[in-house]
Amino acid sequence: MSEEIMTCVDVELEEQLIAEASRLAIEENPENAPPLADNAALNDNELAMLTGKKWKNGRVLRVSFLDGIPSVQKRVAECAKTWSEHANISFDFGDHPKSEIRISFKHKGSWSYLGTDALSRKQTEPTMNFGWLKPSTSDAKLRRVVLHEFGHALGCIHEHASPDVEIPWNKEKVYTYYAGPPNNWTKQKIYNNILKKYSGKVTQFSMFDTKSIMLYPVSNKLTDGDYQVGFNRELSDQDKKFVAKMYPKVCEIE
Ligand SMILES: [Zn+2]
Repeated sequence: MSEEIMTCVDVELEEQLIAEASRLAIEENPENAPPLADNAALNDNELAMLTGKKWKNGRVLRVSFLDGIPSVQKRVAECAKTWSEHANISFDFGDHPKSEIRISFKHKGSWSYLGTDALSRKQTEPTMNFGWLKPSTSDAKLRRVVLHEFGHALGCIHEHASPDVEIPWNKEKVYTYYAGPPNNWTKQKIYNNILKKYSGKVTQFSMFDTKSIMLYPVSNKLTDGDYQVGFNRELSDQDKKFVAKMYPKVCEIE
């Protein structure tokens, strides 16, 4: 039997939090500020949506668990460190009174807020959730979802939503598939999570990479022609290069 396609869901900030998230993002890293000259015609909220979500380079992000089983927590913490081999960001897992990333296992699905969007959540709220991890989950499956969600936490978007994407989706089949169980998604949710592309202006993106950990499996049944992508379980060479550029370890002085 083939492995079930479990899709990570995009989490988006509520409309009333967008302006505050934008303020916090620029406070964290001034590079997140949108270029003003290009955007003179936009209102405040539209402008806020063009704000970047990158952490300050070299940041030690505090990570705490809101719930969960210690053996699974330990495996999550071990796996997340893989990103720090390539990005100049480290994760300090512990029982912190205040933390930037807070993990829960009790909500539905797997998701994470994108980069600094996590700063606008309350300290009692999770910023990342692993709904399908259990002590019996295999290492391969755990790595796939943990690396993927921590990629979001660093500010990486879904590879299938990259402005450079070229997946020949069969839209009718996509809507039919995700409207059914176990997803039961609305049309809007399907559009937002599967078909929508981000604008090249707001996102850090690289050339479309079918090996990316940020790409979830694409089934042949949902595309036109012969097109599918398997289960990526490790960071691709391009993922590594991408985060190394986003969070460089060596300060280059020109
Ligand atoms: Zn995702």
